[in-house]
Amino acid sequence: MQKKPSEVIEMKLKSASYGRLSHNAKCSRCRAKAIISLPSHHANFCEDCFLVFFHKAVNRAMKKFPIGLDTPIMVAVSGGKDSLALWDVLADLGFTTKGIHIDLGIPNFSEASRSACEEFAKSRGLELSIYELKDLFGFSLPEIAKLKSSKVCSVCGTLKRQFLNRLALQEGFSVIATGHNLDDEASRLLGNTLRHRDAYLQKAYPFLPAGPGLVARMKPLFRLESEEIRIYCRVRGIKYFGDKCPFARGATSHILLEALQFIESQMPGTKRDFLFGFLDRQTPPQFEDALLGNCSVCGALSYQDICSVCRLKDELKRKKEFLKDRGH
Ligand code: AMP
Ligand code: ZN
Repeated sequence: MQKKPSEVIEMKLKSASYGRLSHNAKCSRCRAKAIISLPSHHANFCEDCFLVFFHKAVNRAMKKFPIGLDTPIMVAVSGGKDSLALWDVLADLGFTTKGIHIDLGIPNFSEASRSACEEFAKSRGLELSIYELKDLFGFSLPEIAKLKSSKVCSVCGTLKRQFLNRLALQEGFSVIATGHNLDDEASRLLGNTLRHRDAYLQKAYPFLPAGPGLVARMKPLFRLESEEIRIYCRVRGIKYFGDKCPFARGATSHILLEALQFIESQMPGTKRDFLFGFLDRQTPPQFEDALLGNCSVCGALSYQDICSVCRLKDELKRKKEFLKDRGH
């Protein structure tokens, strides 16, 4: 039987772990009884000191970005642990925030994702905008997957990025925050390094500046690991939806993450050194408008005459017509 979203969320909360600790371990900061072990920091924490640690990591990330407390932030929330933790911590640090969620129209998965966002917003008294991909684009994700058998994950990524930008502009925001964490960024860096994808490596940075028609994008959780964010959610009572998208991309990102986790388990701290050492040498990317024009169909910013969203929509419409003609 299908589980109700709230049951799934409860289960995920119960299964969260605080790591291995001896029974008399002390908090590295205040010497109270520790309940959280963070081997990659060679530290144990009590709940309060863990929150101090978490805030410090986000503040340190935010210091790298030209965004102050006076800039309203649109927080892109999926209903998962990372983006809800991000929204919680930014609001807690005093930033003015509004959540935005795109409902992809995936049966069960999208309902649970959406209700996790709604419940969180309600519990914190925060404002949330919800849009449906079907209304924005004319096709839901399952409809896209049916018409386009390959690469649905990268298509979904492109659509989310494009629509989040357009909607943030429309709602008057100049910056979007996403929940990408240290593990996401380190495993992507590993993949791009292994394949020598220089163009991606050049642009890899947790802050991309705004330009005409483009809001800035930032990843304030890039200094925090998945597990640290899971603990944060538990400490802060955040009920997230933890299921994987049924359309989730193939094994590659998983293999990279597992490889990194193996190295990290043998040599704690390596994952952080790998990512931060790389970022320390990076030049923050500048807005490049030399090649940018406007889409001749929808007017959005585009490197080509017709933007990727309009090209995809056209391709899907033609495919749908073709299938209809053949009686599908
Ligand atoms: P993902 O690409 O699914 O790993 O998501 C990366 C980040 O994109 C999340 O942490 C969110 O900030 C944002 N995001 C993902 N899905 C959605 C969605 N359906 N609506 C709004 N933001 C999203
Ligand atoms: Zn403490």
